[in-house]
Amino acid sequence: MTAPSPTASHVFPRHTHATLPHAVAGDGCYILDRDGKRYFDGSGGAAVSCLGHSDPAVIEAIQSQAAQLAYAHTSFFTSDPAEELADLLIEHAPAGLDRVYFVSGGSEAMEAALKLARQYFTEIGQPQRRHVIARRQSYHGNTLGVLAVGGNMWRRQQFAPLLMESTHISPCYEYRGREVGESAFDYGQRVANELEAEILRLGPNTVMAFVAEPVVGATAGAVPPVEGYFKRVREICDQYGVLLILDEVMCGMGRTGTLFACEQEGISPDITAVAKGLGAGYQPIGAMLCSAQIYAAIENGSGFFQHGHTYLGHPVAAAASLAVLRRLTMDRALDRVAPMGDRLQAALVDRFGEHPRIGDIRGRGLFRGLELVADRATKTPFDPALALPKKIKAAAFDAGLLCYPMGGTIDGAAGAHILLAPPFIMNDDQIGEVVDKLDIALKATLPA
Ligand code: PMP
Repeated sequence: MTAPSPTASHVFPRHTHATLPHAVAGDGCYILDRDGKRYFDGSGGAAVSCLGHSDPAVIEAIQSQAAQLAYAHTSFFTSDPAEELADLLIEHAPAGLDRVYFVSGGSEAMEAALKLARQYFTEIGQPQRRHVIARRQSYHGNTLGVLAVGGNMWRRQQFAPLLMESTHISPCYEYRGREVGESAFDYGQRVANELEAEILRLGPNTVMAFVAEPVVGATAGAVPPVEGYFKRVREICDQYGVLLILDEVMCGMGRTGTLFACEQEGISPDITAVAKGLGAGYQPIGAMLCSAQIYAAIENGSGFFQHGHTYLGHPVAAAASLAVLRRLTMDRALDRVAPMGDRLQAALVDRFGEHPRIGDIRGRGLFRGLELVADRATKTPFDPALALPKKIKAAAFDAGLLCYPMGGTIDGAAGAHILLAPPFIMNDDQIGEVVDKLDIALKATLPA
């Protein structure tokens, strides 16, 4: 074993060979580093910073809650910000969702969702229900439980021996999945029906939940479902008594133009998870929302959800999130997302629509993805050895743009895409800035 090299930093970074600039300040949609360089936050970090980096109302809410009361453990107390936040979330949530469980992030929210689904079935006397079905194109978090459910093979591979059993069906991925001559609707029904086949294969009364992102984020780059897909999924779940868990950690909280992405599908889940935009990056917070029926099963059963973390319902995080949600709903920041997203899409199509290396430009609201291909006609993906996402990210960063290029997987195979998730407060000039800077990065990195 070689001796460890002396290091100037004691932070354990994501990439041990990277030397990162120090972020020192936020200014609207920009992050400034120690040398004064400004970066437009075109990905909101990882689809987090929906209100930019210097929102006065959110900052004020954090300061005053921290001064008033920073922390009170939820086995002793509830708090005003947590109660008010839960009320406001439920007021705007899809029909049927009635209770909110606050955690510190997306993986925690999804872990809580899985455990609640399992406990629901033990409480109602169906302990044989244990199987979780998810999709091959999915990411649900990095902790072991949700990693097991996620379909990103690259993320799972080395941890496979530690993961619980789960099964995966096809995603709803029109760009690659829809066959010639097949309508988008028929395609959606066909892939949704894979859920029914999988439930029947496993044994209908052994399946606990189906888990999906309404609009797929990190694994595939803002892939929206086709019309009717989630209605059919909902029908199948109802028919077999399977819980529908929607992971809105990335696509929720207004990112796609509605507070919850599933609103656009005309369905309600039994359980959903949100995070990222919920705290908008000002505080770490996530939430799991569940139906009145599921809550009642716990309330009328053991009366105790057998789960918990130290920072459940953290008052400062809840106060920040309440200010964020008020900005989105009462101040109507959410209303900007759909029209601004349409203009971003139009600008991307205008600049890159005929680009020989970009096969698809897609998404909803301010959640956009560009899929990179070696060949547009055959949709052949680039060789992962080229490490294009990494190079594009670096070139965009040099140009002063944060974007989120990922290798990801295309329904099991290697793929590459760029995810854009800019703050909702961006303006039209900044759409031009994003497109120009992305253009510079793509010219510097993509093969001619
Ligand atoms: N689910 C989805 C859909 C996500 O995009 C993410 C984060 N990228 C997570 C879960 C995990 O969230 P966190 O990183 O906050 O644990």
